[in-house]
Parts: sequence; C-alpha cells; structure tokens
Amino acid sequence: MKCFYCKADMTESTTTHVAELKNCIVIIKNVPCIKCEQCGEVAYSGTVARRIDEILDTFEKAMTEIAVVNYTGSAA
Ligand SMILES: [Zn+2]
Repeated sequence: MKCFYCKADMTESTTTHVAELKNCIVIIKNVPCIKCEQCGEVAYSGTVARRIDEILDTFEKAMTEIAVVNYTGSAA
C-alpha cells in the first residue's frame, strides 16, 4: 500500500492512537497499523478502525477524564 499523502511505501507497524472525546482523552497503545516510511502517516485496517471505535465508545460512557489502554489487552 502507498501513502495517501506522499505516495511512499507503507509498512506494518504499531502506533499509539490518541483520541479526544467530548469529556475525555483516550490513549490506545500498541495499535496495529501501517505507517509511511517517509512522512509517518498512519493508516488502520477496517477491523482495527472498528475496534478503536468500540474502545472509544466504551470510554465515552465511562466518563473517565484520561484513559490509557493497551489495544491488545482491552477486551471490548
Ligand atoms: Zn507518506
């Protein structure tokens, strides 16, 4: 897969996904992704994107101010 921005090659990696919700900030560590070698742009597969949404939904309801979770360890 090529980078959407700079067209360089993208390789499999992991990243830390930070999401700002209405009431809280959720930090998800070790999220599988593909990362651009040139500009660092990150893309998620459909499965991973859905999983992130599920995790964020959970924390939006939990009313936590800051949450740090491991992608692999969080059983949603
Ligand atoms: Zn790029």
